[in-house]
Amino acid sequence: MEKTNKRIAVIGSGITGLTTAYQLKKHIIEENLPYEVVVLESSIRSGGKLYTMKFGEQYIDLGAESIDTRQTEAMQLIEELDLTDQLQYSKNGKQDVYAFNKLYHFDCPTYKGIPVKRTDIWKYDLVSFQGKLAFLKDTYFSRLENRQEVTTKEYFAQRVGEEVAEYIVEPFFSKIYSSDIDEIGIHGLNEQIVDLEGNYGTLTKTLEAHPELLDGDNNYITFDNGLETLSETLVENLDTAIRYSKKVTEIKKSINNTYILDINKKEQLRVDSIVVATDSGAYNQIFSGDVELNGYFKEIKMGSIGFVLFSFPKGSFNKTPKGNGVLSVRRNNSYIQSVVWLNKKWDHYKDKDEELLGVYFGRSTDGIMMSLSNKQIEEAILNDLNSILDIQNAPNYRIIKRWPNAIPQFSLNHDEKRKNLFEFLEDHYPGLYLAGNGIDGFGINNCIAQAKRASENVLQHLKNTK
Ligand SMILES: Cc1cc2nc3c(=O)[nH]c(=O)nc-3n(C[C@H](O)[C@H](O)[C@H](O)COP(=O)(O)OP(=O)(O)OC[C@H]3O[C@@H](n4cnc5c(N)ncnc54)[C@H](O)[C@@H]3O)c2cc1C
Repeated sequence: MEKTNKRIAVIGSGITGLTTAYQLKKHIIEENLPYEVVVLESSIRSGGKLYTMKFGEQYIDLGAESIDTRQTEAMQLIEELDLTDQLQYSKNGKQDVYAFNKLYHFDCPTYKGIPVKRTDIWKYDLVSFQGKLAFLKDTYFSRLENRQEVTTKEYFAQRVGEEVAEYIVEPFFSKIYSSDIDEIGIHGLNEQIVDLEGNYGTLTKTLEAHPELLDGDNNYITFDNGLETLSETLVENLDTAIRYSKKVTEIKKSINNTYILDINKKEQLRVDSIVVATDSGAYNQIFSGDVELNGYFKEIKMGSIGFVLFSFPKGSFNKTPKGNGVLSVRRNNSYIQSVVWLNKKWDHYKDKDEELLGVYFGRSTDGIMMSLSNKQIEEAILNDLNSILDIQNAPNYRIIKRWPNAIPQFSLNHDEKRKNLFEFLEDHYPGLYLAGNGIDGFGINNCIAQAKRASENVLQHLKNTK
């Protein structure tokens, strides 16, 4: 009997897997293609790191907390899914920086804390006189002649001076990438500013020409009912059944350009094309039979992060940030990386009769926090939080969520390593694509962009193979 249907497996149903399956389904219907999509998910839920919990009447995100509107991929999907009327836009601009036992707020126009107008550096108490002079000198000269890969810290130290890089860039980037800026290469990050700088010569000129990139209100979005609104809507749109509790334990190459998936070590499924949308921590096991391919994955390190939601009675703090949260510089030696003040950041929490603070703790290189008990974590965080905010009351309640090995850490020359890996896959695993939280970047926008590319690649591959 002639085989008509081709089967596509999407492994993982986080935002990447769901978007991939959604895009595939759309094209299959539009083009009337004889393909079927199977989504295999190891856990009992979809969403992955989009993780919203409902407490009473309120929805709180314990994983990813917002989507950056300065990138467009998520917004396009949200519009397509008709979810714009459920959006909330961030308020109270940007976070304060906590350093030297003090909160600093930058009122002037900034990009990730860096002043856009060079002379505004004189308003920064956080930086010494020498640090200000270094900033003025380094923002003046173009650094474009030297485009080689450097760490994120080196990249910014060359452009804004050592001190601004340490006390301003470091806390902002640590919050976004949960990585050590002394370790991560600048070109692995997909930061728009790095590419744009080539057109303008200096960081300052680039920022002046791109006001849309600056820190401020509306930079971030969430939904009335939390970020899982997005993953839940994608699930509803997929009439393809998602198969839960189906962990793909190995992928093996088979005859006629097909692959065999081992599921839960006891079931097998033959497929024609695959998108692996797990995070990169899962690759080692899935491809354990291929020593050469595993060599590429050894380079990927995953960092851990934790989140505590605290509810405090109103008026519990003697010190409060001007902005919608706090970033802690690494030299504080604090367990806290950042604090999101939910009542200040989002209008839908504004009138609550409690103060809701989301605290991200643990730094990429600091695995210790993940192994502590909840009580130990609470004590350590409360102690650090007290230094920042001078707390008067005990919390009403707290909720702790650990995210071990959840954030990829892009080492130097990641771009080149990524290119080599993708070339290897193209040569040795035709029709198999990696997407999502890992090799090609992370963050919701980035994962959606990768999902779109992966689904296009799958369709192209299947159309080209008999
Ligand atoms: C604490 C935290 C805060 C963050 N904050 C933000 C933020 O505010 N904004 C932002 O843009 N990004 C943020 N991120 C990053 C963002 O959440 C992720 O990049 C993105 O959600 C990853 O989506 P994904 O689908 O690629 O991977 P995941 O969400 O990890 O989904 C992968 C899925 O694959 C499943 N899976 C794994 N292995 C297998 C297997 N062998 N077989 C079958 N299924 C498998 C998993 O169960 C999971 O459901 C944050 C991340 C963390 C951890």
